[in-house]
Amino acid sequence: MSDLSNKTIITVAPTGAWPTKENNPNIPLDPPEIADDVVACWKAGAAVAHLHMRDEQGKGTMNKERFKETVARIKDRCDIVLNLTTSGDLNATEETRMAHLIELKPEMASYDCGSMNWMHSGLFLNPPAFLEKLGGVMKENGVKPEIEVFDAGMLYNALYYLKKGVLDAPLHFQFVLGAAGGTAATVENLVYLKSLLPPGATWSALGIGKGHIPIVLTTIALGGHVRVGMEDNVLYSKNRLAASNAEFVERTVRMVVEADKSPATPAEARQILSLKGSAR
Ligand code: ZN
Repeated sequence: MSDLSNKTIITVAPTGAWPTKENNPNIPLDPPEIADDVVACWKAGAAVAHLHMRDEQGKGTMNKERFKETVARIKDRCDIVLNLTTSGDLNATEETRMAHLIELKPEMASYDCGSMNWMHSGLFLNPPAFLEKLGGVMKENGVKPEIEVFDAGMLYNALYYLKKGVLDAPLHFQFVLGAAGGTAATVENLVYLKSLLPPGATWSALGIGKGHIPIVLTTIALGGHVRVGMEDNVLYSKNRLAASNAEFVERTVRMVVEADKSPATPAEARQILSLKGSAR
């Protein structure tokens, strides 16, 4: 087995809940498009795919049938680790935010560890009772929480839930930087958040907007894992739309290799993240 300490897990987040074909015509929205896109990203070096679904109108949805179809299409064709969102629609109920986890038992799912004002327009609600319930559902179904942290308070919430037994060590964090209402995507903010991690935790980071590349570079330098994709950025560079999600993955692979590391395979990511593995 190769040295896992030198491996960087690249997660692709191909769709998200918000960007539209008007923002970037290359964004994958329906299950066949998302599956094709994820397989291309896996070929390019992504080890994890973080998935959101859209309805017929292209709006974020927690419809579990769409998750089911997309997951099946991807599992038919590759072994990428699947990380399903639990917050793909601000109007979803607590039940619909968890139903797909119970049915599909993905290896990972997002766990947004606090509430916030979302994009200066709405509320992203993750109240304590919901987080306790979600933690329990994840444990019962063998789903590893990816603790999404938009500000330091969310990280401290996770430490509280670790102490309370709602979450189990080793924790895995995703620092989401640059979302309006959260923490800006700066190198200084990332270094600060990393300093708060409990021993033994694994972590990844993403930067939205102009902080994207500085965050990727800093994360690689600090020994973290990285997330890229059109959920976070529709622009590949200033004034140029991304041609595909794979294009982001390919660039990140080049950065990782230049840093004298190598991209983790899905099997290596499963080991690094201590995944229980789902019924495949
Ligand atoms: Zn997401």
